[in-house]
Amino acid sequence: SVPAGSKHITLLHTNDMHARAVANGGDMGFAKLAGIFDSYRTENPNTLVLDAGDAVHGTTFATLMNGSSVVDVMNLMGYDAMTPGNHEFNYGTDRLLALTESMNFPVLSANVKDKEDNLLFDPYVIKEIDGVKIGIFGLTTPETAYKTHPKNVENVVFTDPAEEAQAIVDKLEEETDIIIALGHLGLDESSVDTSAKVAEEVEGIDIFIDGHSHTVLEEGLKADNGTLIVSTGEYTQHVGVVDIWVNEGKIVDREAKLLNAEAAEAIKPNEAVEAKVAAILEEQKEILAEEVGEAAVHLEGAREKVRAGETNLGNLLADALLFVTKADVAMTNGGGIRDSINEGVITKGEVITVLPFGNQIVTLKVKGADIKAALENGVTDYPNPRGAFPQVGGMSFKIDPSAEAGKRVHSILIGGKPLDEKAEYTLATNDFMAAGGDEYLMFGQYPQAGMFGSLDEALITYIQELGTADPKVEGRITEAPAP
Ligand code: ATP
Ligand code: ZN
Repeated sequence: SVPAGSKHITLLHTNDMHARAVANGGDMGFAKLAGIFDSYRTENPNTLVLDAGDAVHGTTFATLMNGSSVVDVMNLMGYDAMTPGNHEFNYGTDRLLALTESMNFPVLSANVKDKEDNLLFDPYVIKEIDGVKIGIFGLTTPETAYKTHPKNVENVVFTDPAEEAQAIVDKLEEETDIIIALGHLGLDESSVDTSAKVAEEVEGIDIFIDGHSHTVLEEGLKADNGTLIVSTGEYTQHVGVVDIWVNEGKIVDREAKLLNAEAAEAIKPNEAVEAKVAAILEEQKEILAEEVGEAAVHLEGAREKVRAGETNLGNLLADALLFVTKADVAMTNGGGIRDSINEGVITKGEVITVLPFGNQIVTLKVKGADIKAALENGVTDYPNPRGAFPQVGGMSFKIDPSAEAGKRVHSILIGGKPLDEKAEYTLATNDFMAAGGDEYLMFGQYPQAGMFGSLDEALITYIQELGTADPKVEGRITEAPAP
């Protein structure tokens, strides 16, 4: 039990919603989330609603409007603050700053700067609730520098989260009672700057609301120095609830839990949000429903598959690149393929869902040796999935998983002939890779030889040409010991 006169404050939080606007399986959708927020606010007016990033990108609901649809809905949902995640940058930094302008709540990040060292967002906000001063500051994963198209973050510098956090906490400690970090850092082993690292290195963060790794923490995670880290997984599947009780400026008790669709079954969706989402979907319907052709088979775009091996959808897309460019070879990163397409009618909406980044196709005149180096880059983690994994057309190659990274690729054939390291080939790829994304740095050095419209348009054109797409996994990429 807490001392009499303690103030009860509720923090509701979301992360990695990835524009899952409507209820679908475990995804609750925005209207339901808003209903949950309403019910908590009714019960306890001392409630704050916070989002830890990756909200405005990920489905056609968002991408068709470059994120503004999600912003409109989040305004209605009554968020109090958010921090930008890496995916917030997918429409470019200028677009993100414009979206930020239209948000009714602050967008916070203490470690995103321009090259002149100016912060691009407010680093923190102080909210006074029932006499309790709460400092909330934002942090964005430095991985954004290479997890979005380089042109999206051309003039942006992501500085050290722990260092920036320390400086802010030192300042907020004098002005506030409670300090909350709102971070899109994650808890993945593959990440350097995790929330756990910041919590460990920075003294004085009470609650760390995290996102990025899509981690589900049912009751939060307590760091050694007392910081409570919370995170809700992904795709509107949970709302995080942190109840805190404050007495004389100190937290005397706290409790974290998650609500999922089942737990929130009795809560009604917010009607205004439901109506707004429906109106936006109605506007988009016609564009998305347009039929572009048929799939004779399931077109495989699942994350673990396209990032770890040849798939029929990877082949179809690579062939579409060859079809529109007439290049010798095509390479496109598995991480750029974001969904599968079911057998049957293929709609434009499905194609945009597979390819939501609006990438352009470019051709480069590349040395054979760099094609080899690029393939090596793509398979460094093989058989583990990696965004860089190449889906290819016009060529085949073999991987020796027992060889060390950098020496795994062999038996490369281009147009049926062994790759000549000294020869020059015309390569079709996407502008993300051509700019050195996913560590395809060898491509970054070549000037663009040609530009051919967007990837999604190319796939649509190619499917229209085929009428019925029936791509196979045909052994373009196989595993074999090096000769
Ligand atoms: P989360 O979705 O929670 O942020 P994440 O973004 O860190 O996770 P991924 O979903 O793996 O992780 O996304 C990163 C990968 O997406 C990159 O490695 C790359 O393969 C792909 N990617 C990102 N932006 C682009 C782009 N503009 N074009 C093509 N591929 C891209
Ligand atoms: Zn995410």
